[in-house]
Amino acid sequence: MAASKKIQVYDTTLRDGLQSEDVSLTVEDRLTIAARLDDMGFDYIEGGWPGSNQRDAEFFDRVGKLRLRHARICAFGSTRRASVKAAQDRNLALILRSGAPVATVVGKTSELHVREALRIPFAQNLEVLHDTISYLKKHLEKVILDAEHYFDGLALNRDYTLACLKAAADAGVDLICLCDTNGGRLPFEVAEGVRAAQSAVGCPLGIHCHNDSEVAVAATLEAVRAGAVQVQGTINGLGERCGNANLISVIANLQLKMNYQCLPPGKLARLRELATLVNELANLTPWPRQPYVGRSAFAHKGGLHVSAIQRNTRTYEHIDPAAVGNDRRVLLSELAGQSNIVYKAREFGLEVQAGDPRIGVLLKELKRLEAAGYAYDGADASFELVMLRALGQERQHFGLVSFRVFDDKWNEDQEPLSEAIVIIEGPDGRRTRNSAIGNGPVNALDSALRKSLVPYYPGLSSMQLADYKVRVLDTGVGTGARVRVLIESTDGKRRWTTVGVSANVIEASWQALVDSVEYKLHRDRAKAKLNARQPGSSAKAAAESNGTPRAGL
Ligand SMILES: [Zn+2]
Repeated sequence: MAASKKIQVYDTTLRDGLQSEDVSLTVEDRLTIAARLDDMGFDYIEGGWPGSNQRDAEFFDRVGKLRLRHARICAFGSTRRASVKAAQDRNLALILRSGAPVATVVGKTSELHVREALRIPFAQNLEVLHDTISYLKKHLEKVILDAEHYFDGLALNRDYTLACLKAAADAGVDLICLCDTNGGRLPFEVAEGVRAAQSAVGCPLGIHCHNDSEVAVAATLEAVRAGAVQVQGTINGLGERCGNANLISVIANLQLKMNYQCLPPGKLARLRELATLVNELANLTPWPRQPYVGRSAFAHKGGLHVSAIQRNTRTYEHIDPAAVGNDRRVLLSELAGQSNIVYKAREFGLEVQAGDPRIGVLLKELKRLEAAGYAYDGADASFELVMLRALGQERQHFGLVSFRVFDDKWNEDQEPLSEAIVIIEGPDGRRTRNSAIGNGPVNALDSALRKSLVPYYPGLSSMQLADYKVRVLDTGVGTGARVRVLIESTDGKRRWTTVGVSANVIEASWQALVDSVEYKLHRDRAKAKLNARQPGSSAKAAAESNGTPRAGL
């Protein structure tokens, strides 16, 4: 295969992305993102408008100290005001003072905006473009023009829009980025627009699309096919209104399907990590259906699909999920057939063959539980326990004797206080009673349960609840409805999710809690067994995790 052609990747998450109505990032967050983009091999990182606010200015002050190895930082701003020379324009001075080696200036290229927004004669806008670019060129490594409303301008007055590009090219601009600012253009129009620009100017071209027609990624790809060498966009498509072109998908498509090179070798497999980082810092719930990197992007539910991907993953997957750092997931549901179960069992390290009579028993049990409201799509850990039970391999580590939960609230202004008392029977047959208080009943129950169990199973002390979700199952029956509780737990190394269902939210939570603890103990035991088989392992660790009470208890 011929060597792939390089496409420059230009990220504007920290400028256009921050126009999203629900996104705000601290300077610290912005620096973290910039460092990661650099590490991923992005070519350009737009840092913001140095003149617009304190945070952007501080970002430029501090980004220099990051010592980026690959990416060039770009300072954004608009062309000079019509009434002053470029050398006297305050915003251009701030761009130069930012220390960024590259300036990206947005300029008007549509007659509508020259007439309505700038309110200056058409010829004067050409001077503004020329003067701004030639001035910045004298001081900076590179100057990029963002040709605002380029595609709309082309449709309105082709000659004038192309004259604007020529003015910038004559001034020595390094690249003209063609912008579909309103996001209203379709991919074929964008491709034609790129070709029109090529016929007018000889400088390299870039593409900047917004997603108002839901085709920003497609239009970006068409622009590259037509000859654009730079793609601008944001991580996860953040941006005002419907967002910008999503660089995660743009990069994956260009690299995996069109044989272009965007990132250095080895970096593509970190795309999912990058998408997650930005979601986390921006405090956004990840979109499960996000192409390539979403949690559901390679999730298989239908039994036929699952049996086919077991033979050959290409049957129902457009790419290998590992190429972008994602995972294949096989979901369990009422649709589950034998093949899902066998696949899942193997994932858990359990040896079962298709046709094993225990699978029939497990399927029946699964259908019963699902009818009762349990859902295992998001609760793999509970499912693993159900499976172990059906295969006769489950081991109970403790028994419940009783629990009680109290909630006290003495006046309206006071937060209620919860207390739980738990009595359990340990693996040595002894009963212990422990109480704990908490900021809520589940928190108190969790603390009391673990107080009772840690003496037997010290590994549980590293465990914490990471997330707690309640969902009402039978809507319309008011407070008598059943609820499903999902609990996510972590021990610092792994995360796992368990489920409980009941008309009583405390009971549902208790089931999920017990599964969470049992799962942790089961996993630790499996790990200890594995270690015991390997030379140099600690017999003590194996004994502890194995449920053997420590001496003196
Ligand atoms: Zn934009």
